[in-house]
Amino acid sequence: MLRGQMMDRPLMIADLLRHAALNHGKQEIVSRLPDTGELHRYGWADCHARSQRLANALTGPLKIKPGDRVTTIAWNTHRHMELYYAVSGVGAVIHTANPRLDPMQIVWIINHAKSKAVFYDVTFAPLVDAIAKHCKTVKNWVAMTGEATKPDIKTKQSVYETLLSNAGEHYDWPEFDENSAAGLCYTSGTTGEPKGALYSHRSTVLHAMMSATADAVGVGADGIIMPVVPMFHVNAWGVPYAAALAGSKLVMPGAQLDGKSIQELVEGEKVNLVLGVPTVWLGLLQYLRESGKRIDTVHKVLMGGSAMPESLLRAYQDEYGVEMQQGWGMTEMSPLGTVGKLLPKHEDLSGDEKVKIKLKQGRLLFGVDMRAVDDDGNVLPRDGQSAGHIHVRGPWIISSYYRGAGPESFTDDGWFRTGDVGHIDEDGYMTITDRSKDVIKSGGEWISSIDLENAAMGHPDVAMAAAFGHPHPKWQERPLLVVQPKPNTNPTADSIREYLAGQVPKWWLPDGIEFIDEMPLGATGKILKTKLREIYKDYKFPDADYEGGAMPTKG
Ligand code: AMP
Repeated sequence: MLRGQMMDRPLMIADLLRHAALNHGKQEIVSRLPDTGELHRYGWADCHARSQRLANALTGPLKIKPGDRVTTIAWNTHRHMELYYAVSGVGAVIHTANPRLDPMQIVWIINHAKSKAVFYDVTFAPLVDAIAKHCKTVKNWVAMTGEATKPDIKTKQSVYETLLSNAGEHYDWPEFDENSAAGLCYTSGTTGEPKGALYSHRSTVLHAMMSATADAVGVGADGIIMPVVPMFHVNAWGVPYAAALAGSKLVMPGAQLDGKSIQELVEGEKVNLVLGVPTVWLGLLQYLRESGKRIDTVHKVLMGGSAMPESLLRAYQDEYGVEMQQGWGMTEMSPLGTVGKLLPKHEDLSGDEKVKIKLKQGRLLFGVDMRAVDDDGNVLPRDGQSAGHIHVRGPWIISSYYRGAGPESFTDDGWFRTGDVGHIDEDGYMTITDRSKDVIKSGGEWISSIDLENAAMGHPDVAMAAAFGHPHPKWQERPLLVVQPKPNTNPTADSIREYLAGQVPKWWLPDGIEFIDEMPLGATGKILKTKLREIYKDYKFPDADYEGGAMPTKG
């Protein structure tokens, strides 16, 4: 083999920031601050300068060494950006804890990560007081604010702005092996203990390069991007890195994620691209409809994290002229795997046909290799209908979990088992039909809980819907649909069943439809089916015959 004669320069996260500071220094990062509620604005050059000071504070008074873990419990703000770059930049690992987790779960992950320092937004002061004494490895707690707004807590702490003003200005970002660890994010942990995905400099920079391309997130210097997806949820889908690479303007919503606050920021900053999970867009839509306000500057909403409901897609597209795209990925994939942009050949399709394609999870992006396999491990054809277990591999997909958790998630031939079930078509569009554990198996046949939920969400009175398999005396499992009605509505089970009848095969129609006031949501805004299964564990389908013996266990 003839060796190429190109420079072997490492892919370093700090270089993204250096590039943005040098070439897009005045391009703004605007943040709604959790401590004062004010809008803070500065440019990429300021972000770089303050990150250098922070690097000096980390390596000086805080004694952070290469490889150490530093935890953040924080919203999307410029300070969190500085931590992203400075912590990785000094060779340490930024561990973004999800504050919506149960406090003892946060303790668990901080201890598991053996974090040396925790930086927190003032809104989380009570949480810090509750967990600090359990976090044995943490030497420093830092409030991400100034002296005037520092919270009064029992735990000994430093103040972010004071650390920065006392730190030296100059810092040269070291160059080291691009495969060194840079970030750590734990999976939501709705089942079992959370597992850590440990990203490297190389994986992060490659993911940023891919995500900036036109058919992925698509960011350039003309981008005014608001990641509503939190920086504690898979690095806000990589936006803080891709935006630096492209020199985009960033708008950080801080702690205020309600419809009104989001709309105000979008309008005020002329945001043209927003990213987040469906629950956020549901809240915003409700506000827009009630207030008559608009989001006219937005060209595109990228929605991911759970399936995009058709009703939401149509509402934003038809009422607000917004291009809706769906992305699919996961913590273990940095997270992007697919994005649902239409192809030129789809141009002449009818509106309804286009919607059908947009409801798929999206097209495979370069760098993510994917296969669907059946229960016996046979690779299924890419025919857009043969659903199987989705496996992936690629340079920004984990090769193992942090500290060796979950070895069963990896195949012997080097693929990662996503736990999703779906099919792939000949254009590379992937459609998720279920999580492996959520597949409804009725008489041995698979029913897609996601399709049922999406169909139910189209009913005018349904705010949220979740379908799952529930034990049935004849069919092992049948679908049970749980619905949270929209405020001030009173849908009946019959009206929902009637509505579904035209949209899904007859044998998929749920045998039970139940109503709940508030859907249980997990730490990343997803419906907690585990909780629903618990709530309805003694439920009996109205028309099933339970006579003649015990109910069979789940098949
Ligand atoms: P997380 O690691 O918390 O981001 O969760 C990843 C999981 O969320 C995936 O494995 C999917 O089950 C689900 N998910 C993410 N995006 C989508 C999507 N667009 N449609 C359906 N499920 C999704």
